Amino acid sequence: MLAQDLPAVLGDASRVLTAPAVVDRLSKDFYWYSPVLRPALESKRADVVVQPVSVDEVRAVLRYCYAHDVPVTARGAGTGNYGQAIPLCGGVVLDLSRMDGIEGIGSDGVAVCEPGVRLGVVEAAAREQGWELRCYPSTIVKATVGGFLGGGSGGIGSVAHGGLRDFGTVRALEVVTMEEEPQVHRHEGDAVHEILHAWGTNGIITKIWLALAPRVEWAQMAVAFDTFAAAFGFGEQIAVDTAWTKRLVTTFEWPIPKYFSPVKAICPEGQHLVFFMISADQSDDLRNAAEQVTGTVTYSGAYGGLKTMPLLSDYTWNHTTLWAIKHDDAFTYLLCGFNPSRVREQMTLLRDRFGDEILFHMEFMKNGQGTVIPGAIPLVRFTTETRLNEMIRCCREHGVFVANPHVNNVEDGGRYREDHVQLSAKRRYDPKGLLNPGKMLSFEPESAGVAGSR
Ligand SMILES: Cc1cc2nc3c(=O)[nH]c(=O)nc-3n(C[C@H](O)[C@H](O)[C@H](O)COP(=O)(O)OP(=O)(O)OC[C@H]3O[C@@H](n4cnc5c(N)ncnc54)[C@H](O)[C@@H]3O)c2cc1C
Repeated sequence: MLAQDLPAVLGDASRVLTAPAVVDRLSKDFYWYSPVLRPALESKRADVVVQPVSVDEVRAVLRYCYAHDVPVTARGAGTGNYGQAIPLCGGVVLDLSRMDGIEGIGSDGVAVCEPGVRLGVVEAAAREQGWELRCYPSTIVKATVGGFLGGGSGGIGSVAHGGLRDFGTVRALEVVTMEEEPQVHRHEGDAVHEILHAWGTNGIITKIWLALAPRVEWAQMAVAFDTFAAAFGFGEQIAVDTAWTKRLVTTFEWPIPKYFSPVKAICPEGQHLVFFMISADQSDDLRNAAEQVTGTVTYSGAYGGLKTMPLLSDYTWNHTTLWAIKHDDAFTYLLCGFNPSRVREQMTLLRDRFGDEILFHMEFMKNGQGTVIPGAIPLVRFTTETRLNEMIRCCREHGVFVANPHVNNVEDGGRYREDHVQLSAKRRYDPKGLLNPGKMLSFEPESAGVAGSR
């Protein structure tokens, strides 16, 4: 029925995709990062993929799906790590990658764009006009702005500007509702939090106002140390000192750098590393500061955009996990936030308890209160789900925040709002529970609608 009706709804059959291999590919994301989610989500797929090119087409598809109780799962580039964009109940995958325009970048440093535009495209356009993204995931080249808002949190740039949720980075957005007659609602200021990181469960984002930062000329630098304590200490020193203009401060415990095969030359055997993006006019000072604390600069060079080789950010944030999995697919990861004043004690406790089952990969980031904290995406050698949960429990017992990337729902993933604003928006905008069903557990549909019939 869907394959017959939707071409007429869209007025263009070429953007209604039904070939099984294509539907299968566009029903999946990077869920396989998690050995727990891998078997649970492997068989899940949509019935059909629809590629709208305008808000009117989004509304037309949602109108049809509401009338026929068809689930709809939004998709940007499908780079999410925990099955966020995988349809659990079939139906339509709404692939927004063709709504990829940038309306403009204002003199106030706000980019206005459609959801399917890739973050790398926005970054390039912004830099041409003297601006740049405040923060972006290491998947910047592929990931879309809408997908970042729907499922991401922060990344490169967060050490200076916080995450996507902080400091008014998302100025405003427009969202289309799943109702008999779908509406377009504008959310601005604090109201953006009703929609951010809701995994497309409470509306389809169709327009975004994203605040940028003034462009900086960056340099990249890698510094090696004999001990992890020295590497971590140097990273922390640069990250917290406001005199340094930085975009990235990442510390890797050895043997993690061993997995970065394309940049082996800058990762000496047995050495713990810190990767930086630092203001180019501070790179000599950074070299001096590193040498004062027995660091060895193994790489230093200008940053000329995302095609720069090597691009150090390709080894940071959740790309680190990817390199490790390529080396050994028994690796997985956690998303952690350490307490700045207890971080060394917390790391020691975890090391004593789990040995090299956990390997420290630290990412410094500013929190919403303006404090730079040691975040972490530690590598974990997976054995069993029980052992993984034991590690998560142990982290939490010792005051380490964990956003669990081995669950497939908004609430347990760590960024659900305590004030329930995402849930409250879902009740208003998706009363039947047709948007990405199964991902917001606390929601109860008004009628059996979706899942009931599937
Ligand atoms: C190697 C690797 C590194 C990563 N590094 C980072 C990182 O540094 N920081 C970070 O935050 N994340 C990171 N991620 C996760 C992911 O890449 C980012 O969150 C990215 O921004 C997701 O964008 P996407 O277009 O691929 O979204 P998708 O995966 O397509 O979607 C993400 C979620 O948003 C929803 N969604 C998509 N579009 C819309 C829309 N228009 N309206 C409403 N909901 C929508 C989807 O339904 C889904 O729930 C990484 C992932 C990988 C594989």
